[in-house]
Amino acid sequence: RVLFRSPRHDEVTVAIIGAGFAGLCTGAKLVEAGIDDLLLIDGAGDVGGVWYWNRYPGAMCDTAAMIYLPMLEETGRMPSAKYVHAPEIHEHARAIATTYGLHERALLSTEVESVTWDEASARWVIRTDRGDAIRARFVAMGTGPLHRPKLPSIPGIETFAGPAFHTSRWDYGVTGGTPDGEPMTRLSALRVGIIGTGATAVQCIPALGRDAGVLEVFQRTPSSIDVRDDWETDPEWAAKLQPGWQAARRAKAFTEPPLPTLQLQRRQTFTAEEKLRAQENANIDYMMRIHKRIDEIVEDRTTADALKPWYMFMCKRPCFHNDYLPTYNRPNVHLVDTHGKGILEIGENGPIFEGKEYPLDLLIYATGFEVQKTGTWNRITGEGGRDLQDKYADGIRTLLGIHTHGYPNMFIMGGYQASFNFNLTDVLQAQGDHIAACIDHVRTNGYATIDCTEAAEDWWVEEVIEHRGKTNRNAECTPGYYNFEGEFNRRQDGNYNGGFPKYYANLGAAREKMTENFTFTK
Ligand code: NAP
Repeated sequence: RVLFRSPRHDEVTVAIIGAGFAGLCTGAKLVEAGIDDLLLIDGAGDVGGVWYWNRYPGAMCDTAAMIYLPMLEETGRMPSAKYVHAPEIHEHARAIATTYGLHERALLSTEVESVTWDEASARWVIRTDRGDAIRARFVAMGTGPLHRPKLPSIPGIETFAGPAFHTSRWDYGVTGGTPDGEPMTRLSALRVGIIGTGATAVQCIPALGRDAGVLEVFQRTPSSIDVRDDWETDPEWAAKLQPGWQAARRAKAFTEPPLPTLQLQRRQTFTAEEKLRAQENANIDYMMRIHKRIDEIVEDRTTADALKPWYMFMCKRPCFHNDYLPTYNRPNVHLVDTHGKGILEIGENGPIFEGKEYPLDLLIYATGFEVQKTGTWNRITGEGGRDLQDKYADGIRTLLGIHTHGYPNMFIMGGYQASFNFNLTDVLQAQGDHIAACIDHVRTNGYATIDCTEAAEDWWVEEVIEHRGKTNRNAECTPGYYNFEGEFNRRQDGNYNGGFPKYYANLGAAREKMTENFTFTK
């Protein structure tokens, strides 16, 4: 329930847009640095970002909670298992906010519409859908790259007569049950359809298969499904952890590739070509093991074959689940494989594929999210009235994916040209630390603004291009959000692929040479 409130026209030192882990980590670091005049602005009704919105049954995180959940020691919390479910993660986000007093500094149910630099006063002006015009000395964007639910533009989508929703807006009023895993009792007599078989669908299909009268799964591209090797946290072991354990564990984890099967012999020396071949062979071995697993679990041969991914490993996000494949052995669950075509027509009764109609009582879209191509959803106008989208017209230009020249006192988190790491919160925490350190530097030196130099930006764009040149083979992959649905063309528009340790070192190095990389005004 959104309550009426009067528009705000006040000023804060730091405005943080987005109250997910990016915003919370940065907010916490700022409070630690003594900068507590800050405001987190979010369209959601609570903190938590992606974990606020995604409450579909079975939602959980594929990254080990001991490293994924930020600030475990600071909040005095311990994950219940190696991999934890969405409600526990949302609870953890709330705990960070409680520990650092961020609930009191959050402006919720408020969508930011524009962020404009006012040169005369050296302040950002943030306008929202609630009529606010909040002024801020510094602004940090933690809006998340996959944030806007995507419905496919399938002809007839609006004609479907039954209830329908996107997985990130799950309607338990329709299904019954709860995000904590209570059975969805209202589905037992219903014919339910789900479009999409990505990471979200893989997690909610087992619960839907268990509870629905009939479940039709409409697949365009199968995901690769590996084992989820999970266990509960042993409290005796946890009690023996020494202070500093989480930072040590994270540091160790970010030097380890996520899948040991794909680790190449580290001590062996390869030429570039040999390394590429060795990686390709490791990819093929991995995918053959994924195929074998399907054959061992799925009883119906046609279904088993349709579930086998045909593309190279990492073309699509790898998935991990122990109940997804067995769900296809249930008599009430049917896979409708569209052979890569996808559903192209929806009628009043349900999806239609190759002339056959699939009548449904409920249709669920697990069709993912719009990809944020420029690092932030907000309309951003910098020095000289320049729109950030116009600046990026010929390609994204940043220093470290965080600073962009001509947009002083502005910081971007979780966007492109930063390092990608399977543990996304490593990147967000490192960026939060960096942003807090930059703001602290400006304040302690009595400066008014910080901006990166054009030369520093040029250097970083070249770094991004060089490292993407070595590893970017996404153009050969099936379309998806990893390669901008196959439309990917500019090499600088993507993640920095030099590896997280190198990215992390670059953040520190940039701060050591503040006067070379940045300009300051008094
Ligand atoms: P997604 O990976 O983009 O998957 C969307 C699915 O919808 C794909 O299977 C896509 O097929 C399908 N689709 C789209 N249009 C279609 C059509 N017309 N007919 C049939 N199928 C259609 O989205 P997501 O599953 O929500 O995941 C988004 C990201 O969130 C993940 O990749 C991950 O980074 C994160 N996430 C993580 C977890 C986790 O930690 N386990 C869980 C959920 C989400 P194509 O593959 O052919 O495009």
